[in-house]
Amino acid sequence: MLNGEKKIARPLRWGMVGGGRLGQVGYKHRIGALRDNTAFQLVAGAFDIDPARGKDFGVNIGVAEERCYPDYKTMFAEEAKREDGLEVVSIATPNGTHYEICKAALHAGLHVICEKPLFFTTDEVREIKALAEEKGKIIGVTYGFSGNQMMLQMRAMVEKGEIGDVRVVDLQYTHGFNANDDGDKINAAQKWRIDPKVAGPSYVLGDLSTHTYYMSQLIMPQMKIKKLLCDRQSFISTRAPLEDNAYVLMHYENGAVGRLWTSSIDAGCMDGHRIRIVGSKASLEWWDSKPNELKYEIQGQPIQTLIRSMPYLDDSCNADERLGALHVEGLSEAWANIYLKFAIAIDAKNRGDEETLQNLVYPNIDAGLEGVRWVENCVRSADKGADWVDFE
Ligand code: NAD
Repeated sequence: MLNGEKKIARPLRWGMVGGGRLGQVGYKHRIGALRDNTAFQLVAGAFDIDPARGKDFGVNIGVAEERCYPDYKTMFAEEAKREDGLEVVSIATPNGTHYEICKAALHAGLHVICEKPLFFTTDEVREIKALAEEKGKIIGVTYGFSGNQMMLQMRAMVEKGEIGDVRVVDLQYTHGFNANDDGDKINAAQKWRIDPKVAGPSYVLGDLSTHTYYMSQLIMPQMKIKKLLCDRQSFISTRAPLEDNAYVLMHYENGAVGRLWTSSIDAGCMDGHRIRIVGSKASLEWWDSKPNELKYEIQGQPIQTLIRSMPYLDDSCNADERLGALHVEGLSEAWANIYLKFAIAIDAKNRGDEETLQNLVYPNIDAGLEGVRWVENCVRSADKGADWVDFE
């Protein structure tokens, strides 16, 4: 169980690019990183594409005025001159900026925590992975939901054979917030998401399904996709070529099959994020809208609901427990869990502690690579007219 006591010698000096006043995801980063003030300390930021607004915002959240920078290049250059300069930076800007900012951060000697989808192509990820290795730096990827400890419970149950052999993987991440064409009223965060120059080769596949795909890989690291078929649509035609809805069918190397539905036009849907793993003996099902519960359904027996924090759960799951039974945990705790692991990974990397790094389960650069690879393969299949393709 976690109680905020330090896991590393001292908090890491942390900064942000993006995630400013109007940014959707910035506060989630701060909730995650600053939950345990023994892990990160927010000392600098280039929070906004609008420098004045970014400075005003930074000062309002307690960052020293002289360390609220007009842009990330100035921040990296100025912080490098300080003895107490930045050690790690989070990138919470639109997709199309991740690659350049990440590269600049590594060249500035910083560890990086970056939003998903990491970059546009797997070639870019491989290049940055090599650069991070050369510089001895960590790259973490903020698949925030994956910090929910019930993922580790599912992982342990699958590994111990408690559901038998995995046969079917059923994934969904849908919402209905873009069911209508917003025309001129479209907000900035939505506008870039349907612009291929900023969003990349996909909309909902990258924006939503990379989370759920990563979570499925976290639960079942042994399950490798062999082939997939992706069918994608733009129900609001102005979003083309980027999709607002997609179906993916998967064939795994071990003979299991899977499907994933991702959508932003699932009108009225308020709880469309779900993972169901069907084994030969039993099934597991988790819903993002009920993150404290895990359904365990053994064929022929009454359905069980496993509840977060209870002693019958696996030690790996309860190690990430924070509030204890009878109290509800959610997305904030999930983000705090992954940020704490980023801090532990960075500290281990700094100390050359490869054993800790090998044993730590967290979304690292390989998880980021896998997400970009997923999108690349889905788009390749969809662009062939929804044909089966080998998972390259
Ligand atoms: P947004 O448009 O709401 O916010 C982007 C923020 O970045 C704004 O504050 C903007 O001013 C700032 N910005 C843009 N370019 C910048 C630059 N060059 N330098 C400094 N600041 C800059 O976008 P969002 O919805 O917050 O998404 C940002 C990223 O986070 C995207 O990659 C998105 O896919 C990802 N995201 C992840 C999650 C998650 O759960 N992990 C949730 C939402 C968004």
